[in-house]
Amino acid sequence: MKHRKTCSRLLALGVLLLLLIVGGCKAKPKDERPLIITSIHPYELLLQELVGDGVRVQSLIPASASPHTWSPKAKDIKKLDEAKLLVMNGLGLEEQLTDAFKQRSDKLIDLAELIDITPVEKSRSREVNPHIWLSPQYLVRMAMMLADKLQSYFPEQTAAINQNTMTLVNNLSSMHQQISKDRAMMENPAIITYHDSFHYFALDYGIAVPATVQSSPGKEPTGKELAKLGEIIKANKINTIFVEPQMDKRSAKVLADEFDLKIQTLDPLGHEFKAKRITDLIWTNWQNIKTALQGEETLP
Ligand SMILES: [Zn+2]
Repeated sequence: MKHRKTCSRLLALGVLLLLLIVGGCKAKPKDERPLIITSIHPYELLLQELVGDGVRVQSLIPASASPHTWSPKAKDIKKLDEAKLLVMNGLGLEEQLTDAFKQRSDKLIDLAELIDITPVEKSRSREVNPHIWLSPQYLVRMAMMLADKLQSYFPEQTAAINQNTMTLVNNLSSMHQQISKDRAMMENPAIITYHDSFHYFALDYGIAVPATVQSSPGKEPTGKELAKLGEIIKANKINTIFVEPQMDKRSAKVLADEFDLKIQTLDPLGHEFKAKRITDLIWTNWQNIKTALQGEETLP
């Protein structure tokens, strides 16, 4: 009896030791690589592709949330202080984060400022639209301007950054050519997006956006606005309405039922597509726009 008790004690001790060993192996060593924090997910993809594996890149705003309305918690602000470099879009996109970023200006890159967008865009539209990452042409400019900046922050990564920038610029350029080619096959394409997120993309490729479901991000349309949208839908022979994973879908559903429209997704942040690269994000959105536009062409 006594012998059996000792045995089970030994066994228990053995199990405990085993657990400790397995547990010890599982605990990851602390990641010592320097950290870049970006505001939105698309810039996490962009920056990670440029710097390579030697640097960690994380975005603060979840890709499932709208950057226009998301607000940080205390732990998010604390995270900013752990980062060696902060990257934001600017132009008021990250409304609730702007102050926290600007207070850390010594390690901040404002991409709209970096590619000097404000003076150009002020002449193109009344209010400056912030969605610059959805333009392949602006992405090329960002990649080239970021390469220099990143090399000064992370000099030990210089060779990788040069190589990665060249690869990305090539990929973006060939994607731009393919989209232009596809677009050339279409006559007067027009889309109605959920909010005005594809403004620059549409400008790049000569696609009209005669209206958006939300007149400003996060603001659902009134009955009067829905009626006006209906007129525009009919006048432009629109057959698809776009929804976005970060926004309420109900108004799109109302329009789709009323005007017999298909519902298709555009995802400015790459949440639903699980995009692994910035080019995937743009390309998947373009495939969805193309499908909608080609559907229109076959209508009687
Ligand atoms: Zn937006």
